[in-house]
Amino acid sequence: MSRIRARFWDPAGARYVVPTYPWHMAPPHLRTLRQLAADKLRPGGQGIQAQILWRSRRYSAPGGVRVAYLYDVRFALPKRVPTPAQLAALAKANAARRTCPECLTDVGYVLPRQCDSCPDCATEIAA
Ligand SMILES: [Zn+2]
Repeated sequence: MSRIRARFWDPAGARYVVPTYPWHMAPPHLRTLRQLAADKLRPGGQGIQAQILWRSRRYSAPGGVRVAYLYDVRFALPKRVPTPAQLAALAKANAARRTCPECLTDVGYVLPRQCDSCPDCATEIAA
């Protein structure tokens, strides 16, 4: 095992408190949120079970070390499916956010909260 990998090898959590694995060395039952979501699963209330640490120069991570949190797939639950009523309520709420309160037109994007009206109405008020 290389020195870098040995630095992040801590399955018992003695050094990092949380069980820690180097890149590509976590056991298969521990998965990231994205890996769970790909199988239509959610953590289901469990906390972080382990983490992956790796050195990276791509982002200004503290100490040049990046982290990925892992959840146990055995405690994961299926993702909840919204009911038609919930989807309808969300569509209505999003439509309200896209609708200008002055001219009542759907501008096709969410209006910024600070000006509260579409650009056309905002310039009319300013003029
Ligand atoms: Zn408007």
